[in-house]
Amino acid sequence: MHDFRIKNGRLCCEGVALETLARTYGTPLYVYSQHTITDHYRKLDRALGGLPGHLVCFAMKANSNLAVVRLLANLGSGFDIVSGGELYRVAQAGGDPRRCVFAGVGKTETEIRYALEQDIYSFNVESAPEIERIHRVAQSLGRRAPIAIRVNPNVEAHTHAKITTGTYENKFGVAIEDVEAVYARAAKLPGIRIRGVQMHIGSQITSAGPFVKAVKKALPLVKKLQSLYDMEFFSIGGGIGICHDPALESATPAWWRRAPKARAWLTPRRYADQLVPLLAPLGLRILIEPGRFIVGNAGALLTQVQFVKSTPEKTFVIVDAGMNDLIRPAFYDSYHQIVPLRKTRGTLVADVVGPICESGDYFAKDRRLAAVGEGDYLALLSAGAYGMAMASNYNSRPFAAEVLVNGTRHAVVRARQTRSHLVRGESVAEWLKK
Ligand SMILES: *Cc1c(COP(=O)(O)O)cnc(C)c1O
Repeated sequence: MHDFRIKNGRLCCEGVALETLARTYGTPLYVYSQHTITDHYRKLDRALGGLPGHLVCFAMKANSNLAVVRLLANLGSGFDIVSGGELYRVAQAGGDPRRCVFAGVGKTETEIRYALEQDIYSFNVESAPEIERIHRVAQSLGRRAPIAIRVNPNVEAHTHAKITTGTYENKFGVAIEDVEAVYARAAKLPGIRIRGVQMHIGSQITSAGPFVKAVKKALPLVKKLQSLYDMEFFSIGGGIGICHDPALESATPAWWRRAPKARAWLTPRRYADQLVPLLAPLGLRILIEPGRFIVGNAGALLTQVQFVKSTPEKTFVIVDAGMNDLIRPAFYDSYHQIVPLRKTRGTLVADVVGPICESGDYFAKDRRLAAVGEGDYLALLSAGAYGMAMASNYNSRPFAAEVLVNGTRHAVVRARQTRSHLVRGESVAEWLKK
């Protein structure tokens, strides 16, 4: 499930003690396990073995570090991109743009042109006006743009409101009732080549049920489209959820007590067992777009305790990572296991907070933790997805460094920003200078 384990009283990533990394590279520090990423990719890829020609397209927005992208490209992954910038990263990392699908509700002309020049596999179209724009840009380049329309199946994914995407309350995709009409229009446009159909209902989905429901709802439409057009693929999107680690739970029972109940763990096997039988008879190339599942539990954010501050109401463990480094608890109420890097005696109940001037700058509230003090290190687990990718320079805090671990080897894959990075590109207007 992942390669962060306690060995000889030390929390390790694969063969490296995390305290060594924290001391060598400083904190806050993101650490990724190459083995975990590889293992998750392969498990999914193998589980879909019953679907000839299937393609796993890693959703890059979860973690777009060049080393992570290159690792996945080496494994044969395609990429689900949501901006021209992400496509640029694929190219920079040595990935294959012809294995990229491009989602997003607001693709600009510049992005569409760039994606056509890079020869991407498909634009996953989110509205009727987007088709017209892609057609125009393709024609201006003398090309035909491959497209799939994103079907919004109006299915509840039973996940957090900020990460559900497959209902009519959301801005994503074309309502299932309107999809045929949009395809009919697309078929008339010489700048458009219909290549497939796509769907993505949300994120952190921890049972197969919502996926099955969405696929079943879309199947009659997909078959109809197959009979009308030259369809090559059906992408069922991403969204496979992750859960917390029972191994660390049993090693550290007290720290676990406040964890939300982990629901049934949606393994690649369970996912595939439910979905492959529905999809195989179509004879289409099946794509999936997992992000969180591949990298979520493959990353941890290491941080150092600055102060332990007690008030009559509460104890605050103040760490050197902030919501600018990891915004998920503030943004999505997400739970991250918080584990000390070396075994400690005793526990305390505290809010774990960052140094940023916002009340929302916290990682845990009223959490029972290992008893830690100033200078001790902590790991925030399950931080490999939507962690660094959502980091900002808020409060003029430089970006953390990122390290990739492979067995006993480790390498910095993003250097820590320095103060000079913070003002790069800024200038004082001439008239302000005296
Ligand atoms: C975000 C996103 C994904 C990946 O979601 P995960 O929950 O990380 O698997 C896949 N497809 C699309 C279109 C997305 O926007």
